[in-house]
Order: sequence, then C-alpha cells, then structure tokens
Amino acid sequence: MKYDLIIVGAGPSGAFTALEFIRKNKDKNVLLIEKGSPIEKRRCPKEKTKKCVNCKPYCHITTGFSGAGAFSDGKLSLSPEVGGDLPELIGYDVTQELIDYTDNIYLEFGADSKIEGIEGKEEIKEIRRKAIEAGLKLVDCPIRHLGTEKAQEIYKKIEDYLIENNVEIKFLTQAKDIIVEDGEIKGVIITDSIKHKTEETVYADKVVIAAGRKGADWLENLCVEHNIAHRAGTVDIGVRVEVRNEVMEKVNNVLYESKLIGYPAPFKDKVRTFCQNPGGFVSQENYDNDLAVVNGHSYKDKKSNNTNLAILSSHNFSYPFNEPIKYGIKVSELLNMLGNGSILVQRYGDILDGKRTWQKELSRSNVVPTLPDAVAGDITAAMPYRTMTNILNFIESLNTVVPGFAGTETLLYGPEVKFYSNKVELTTNFETSIKNLYCLGDASGWTRGLMMASLMGVKMGNVLSNK
Ligand SMILES: Cc1cc2nc3c(=O)[nH]c(=O)nc-3n(C[C@H](O)[C@H](O)[C@H](O)COP(=O)(O)OP(=O)(O)OC[C@H]3O[C@@H](n4cnc5c(N)ncnc54)[C@H](O)[C@@H]3O)c2cc1C
Repeated sequence: MKYDLIIVGAGPSGAFTALEFIRKNKDKNVLLIEKGSPIEKRRCPKEKTKKCVNCKPYCHITTGFSGAGAFSDGKLSLSPEVGGDLPELIGYDVTQELIDYTDNIYLEFGADSKIEGIEGKEEIKEIRRKAIEAGLKLVDCPIRHLGTEKAQEIYKKIEDYLIENNVEIKFLTQAKDIIVEDGEIKGVIITDSIKHKTEETVYADKVVIAAGRKGADWLENLCVEHNIAHRAGTVDIGVRVEVRNEVMEKVNNVLYESKLIGYPAPFKDKVRTFCQNPGGFVSQENYDNDLAVVNGHSYKDKKSNNTNLAILSSHNFSYPFNEPIKYGIKVSELLNMLGNGSILVQRYGDILDGKRTWQKELSRSNVVPTLPDAVAGDITAAMPYRTMTNILNFIESLNTVVPGFAGTETLLYGPEVKFYSNKVELTTNFETSIKNLYCLGDASGWTRGLMMASLMGVKMGNVLSNK
C-alpha cells in the first residue's frame, strides 16, 4: 500500500502534524507509526512497584501515543524565547503566531483556560530586580499548565480524533530504516517493536520523522547512513534540584515557573533553570541503552510538599572531539554506575562539605525526596568538574533570588541530561536534504518542549497541505 503521508512517531510533533493535515485533507491516506502503545494502555509500573523496573523493550514514560508528553508536567510555554531554537529557523513573529494557533487547539481539546505568569506584575518586577542583582536574566514566559493527568486526557481526545478521521495508527511498530532513491524518499522499513521478528516496507510520497529525544540516536545513524545533512549542537548536562515548597512559594505563586539564565564564572558557560514543578514529583526516564536519567513533573490536583526544577549547563565541543551525545552518555553512565543503576541524590550541604550523602541523613531532612528509589551518594565523584562548578555557582546566584535555595538540605539528583544535540539541517518548511523527507520536534534538534514540538507539527501539517 502506498500512503500520501507517513509520520514516524506519535509524540506531540507527529500527532499535531497528523491532526492539522487530516483536517485539511480528509481524503488522504495517512499512516502514523508508533513504537509504543495507545495512550490508554500506557502504564508506568512504578505506580505499584514504587521502584523503576526498567521496562523492556521500552520505557512507558517516553514511548507511546503523545510520546514524552503523556507523563510530562504538561506545561505549555507560550513564548518563542523558550523551548528550543526553532524561531531562529522560521522567525520569532511566525513562531508567536503558531504558538497562539496551537494553544487554541489545546484549548479546543480541553486545556485549562488559566495562564500562569502574567498576573502580579509588581512581584515579577521584584523578582527581576533580585535576578539582576545576582547576574541572572529572568525570561518572560506565560505558561499554560495542563498537569500530567489532564495532559493525558487531552492527548487521548486527540488520539480518538485522529482514529475517527481515518488516520491509520500502527502501534507497537518501529521504523527501522528509510528507503531513499536518487536523493528522494520512497518509504520506510518497519518492524514490530517487541520482538523485531516481522519486517515490512511501507511506501509514501512524503515521510515525516518525529521520533523525539528517544529516537535521536536512531536518527543520527540514519543521517550518517543516508547522507542527510546534519550538525552537532550542544548537550545540556545538569541536575534536578528539589526544595520545600515554602522556599519557592513566592516564585511559584507569581510565575509558576522561573526561567533564569546565567553565565557563572569562571567558565561563563550558559547555565539555566528548566522545567520547574511546584508541588511536583521528581521522576526517572529510562533510555533503550539502559541509561537512567532524572526528570520532573507535577499533577494538576495531587501535590507534594516540594518543588523541583532542573539546572542545566550547556556544553559545546569543537576540535578534536565533537560528539555531544556520546559525551552526555558517558557522563550519565558514570553517574548511573555510582548509583548502581539508579538515580543518585545528594544534599547540597554535603557537596559543600566534600562528603557523600547517606540514606539515613535523607530521612532526617525537612526535604523528603519525591523520587523514593533515588540512591543517596556522591554526584561530585562523577560529574565533570566544569559542569559541577557551573551548577554550584549558579545555585549560589539563585539564592539571591530565592533565599534558602542554597540550603544544606536542598537535594540534587543526577544525571539530568538532554540529548537534543544532533541538529538536522532543515529548510523553513522542515524538509531535509533528502527530497520529501521532513524532520520535526525534539529528534530534529530544533525543539525542546511540548509547545514548540506541537507547533512544529502544526506548521508541518499546513506545509504538506499546500503541496
Ligand atoms: C517527564 C517529562 C516531563 C516533561 N515536561 C515538560 C513540560 O512540562 N513542558 C514541556 O514543554 N516539555 C516537557 N517535556 C518535554 C516534552 O515532553 C518533549 O519536548 C516533547 O514531548 C517532544 O515532542 P516530540 O514529538 O518531538 O517527541 P516525543 O514526545 O519524544 O515523541 C516521539 C515519539 O516517537 C516514537 N518513536 C521514537 N522512535 C521511533 C521509531 N523508530 N519508530 C516509531 N516510533 C518511534 C516514540 O515512542 C515517541 O512516542 C517533558 C518530558 C518528560 C520526559
């Protein structure tokens, strides 16, 4: 069978491509290939086991309909300043228009109408004044918070809509390779994602790859094998920090998420806060290569006593080494090794005292870890000196904006690593150097968040409708 359009990956970027395309092309054949399950069948066993069991063949947190969006915090960042480099490709004004358009789709499917971070202007001014004093930049970013459970409801409605509108979705199916002839895409080789026993070739006029962070390694191999133009970007390495809600109360209430950027001495690398979850929970993601990395999310209604956020340090390489993904993997492996396969957690005060943290010390703290299977240990024994220095100096600056942030009981979990470094060369219509092959979302290296990935899908659906 030949399709008009094949989309690989049913994360926000793939799902929104299908949604926008099918709304304008009801008579076209669209195939959506997804390695994981439908959203209603996605279950993280940790809810029962309380411990990550490293699901095989894939992690339910990141795989299945709506991709990494399903168990995310569901924070839609409504500013072009946040969520990746896409505005550099398509322009800031176009990005803002697409944010507004895509935000309306989320509202149509049931998102909360409240926007965080636009009220309390005087308080925001005060936070900005302190940020300036600390040498940090406060980025303005209104946020629509879906919440994990509501995000799942919204994505379920989108899944149903696609199925009702005749988008064929092959779940538990993995794209293995692509067929390219004379510089033009012809189809995709697919296999079942559990046992990899079957193999089939599906053909299409146009193919969109939207495989997410999880698919970044696979995509990089495709780029090398099929000569798809791409370049190495940056890798962001850091920790997830957790403090009591009382410490973050003001920022949580006024901004919900504080997006702060700094360039701490002595290296002057870019260091930033990312993905703040008031009353949230620290979580674990597992990659196919068995890497355990930390993340965080929060529910709309169920709240913890803690707030977590990531502190990430960007790294660039040039000569003689320029493989950021490999570097990020090595650092994560080392941290996982010290945690015996689990996420490591250490108190800030212990780091300053030059000692590891012990489990019994954690149980005496005001800050009770919301990732109960994280193992107390020594992050500094594995984190590169430059990254660790950047993180510690940034935390000291943040303490000026949020007094108490650099408290002795503040928890640091590691590794938090963002593997979005392989950047595919794209036209403004997201076409790769292979004719009719398009690439989107986090896998493309151009986005890093739900809104940007979703709007890239919306634009893709529009572009393909006009072809
Ligand atoms: C715990 C967590 C919390 C987060 N919280 C937020 C947040 O609050 N706000 C925010 O903006 N961002 C958040 N993010 C990031 C956000 O989820 C991602 O940026 C977004 O989902 C990227 O969308 P995507 O479509 O590019 O890729 P993904 O969502 O990763 O989807 C890619 C899909 O492709 C499938 N796939 C991969 N390879 C193949 C293959 N070979 N064949 C078939 N299918 C394949 C995968 O199974 C997956 O379903 C969070 C992420 C996590 C993990």
